Amino acid sequence: MSSSSQNYLKIGIIGFGPFAQFLVKTMIKQGHSITATSRSDYNDLCNQLGVSFFRDMNAFLESNNDVILLSTSILSLSQVIKSLPLNCLRKPTLFVDVLSVKEYPRDLMLQVLPSDSDVLCTHPMFGPESGRHGWKDLSFMYDKVRITNEATCSSFLQIFASEGCKMMEMTCEEHDKLAARSQFLTHTIGRVLAEMKVEPTPIDTKGFQKLVEVSANKDYMQKESTSRDSFDLFSGLFVHNRFAQQQLREVELAFETVKQQLLREDERGAGTQLNHFAADNDKFSQMKTFLFTYGFLPSFSDVIWNC
Ligand code: NAP
Repeated sequence: MSSSSQNYLKIGIIGFGPFAQFLVKTMIKQGHSITATSRSDYNDLCNQLGVSFFRDMNAFLESNNDVILLSTSILSLSQVIKSLPLNCLRKPTLFVDVLSVKEYPRDLMLQVLPSDSDVLCTHPMFGPESGRHGWKDLSFMYDKVRITNEATCSSFLQIFASEGCKMMEMTCEEHDKLAARSQFLTHTIGRVLAEMKVEPTPIDTKGFQKLVEVSANKDYMQKESTSRDSFDLFSGLFVHNRFAQQQLREVELAFETVKQQLLREDERGAGTQLNHFAADNDKFSQMKTFLFTYGFLPSFSDVIWNC
């Protein structure tokens, strides 16, 4: 009997960063057999976890995986996938990605992978922090982009379904639209708040406590929020989700609208404080400065501020 009909899969992971390390613990607990490869050497960690680690990509691809899971950073996926020695694959394989944007990996996988490879795009809507007590009721988005081997695909999805995830089938396009309005917005506001060094006070309201949580989103800011790695993830959410650019513009417009409403009130004699706010404390200018300072691509600024 093949491994997929027993529901136990041989899963090879490319990119063994924090998210892959988090996922494999549950996969191993469920009885799946895991191999991994990555740019850096994770041999010692893999030995501890019960994962076979390959430094050599040829040997990794020759190792007869049912599923190859792509868990690289968004910004490195193109380079990684285009450098795979795909001629080493021994059989038609299911490729799955877990990137936080979806149209981009879908297009890359369809462009680069052999036509007999199946393609499943997924986004577990949780991470090492939000999923640390289990995955029950956490959302798992997926799009069966090109599936011929339904049994293997269904065994892979079962990993998440059996942990109690809310399984959400939708297109990559739908995902990116929704994620721009939810995840990207959360990150943007979180980054702005972190830049303003928003911190708890002795008289916090519940609402403010939530803002402080947003500014310290632990799934995505485990590394220092201002570090290059962490910023790569945020920048990937923007650069490779076409709906995120519109979202950022809407943030700008909304901020301007609210500010103008306040200033109009001030003109009607509601007080003089707001003139100081307008002159000295232009929060939106701070946000612009922040986005420039932390090195979005030049095209980023052109797109957003000049159109
Ligand atoms: P990450 O740490 O930013 O990146 C994962 C791995 O990508 C790194 O460990 C690194 O491998 C590899 N990588 C980065 N740049 C590379 C390059 N230039 N060439 C080759 N490899 C490179 O991301 P993560 O937090 O583990 O997340 C992995 C993926 O899951 C991301 O695409 C993310 O969008 C998605 N995701 C994350 C979460 C979360 O909560 N963290 C949740 C859902 C989905 P080495 O370590 O070997 O250098």
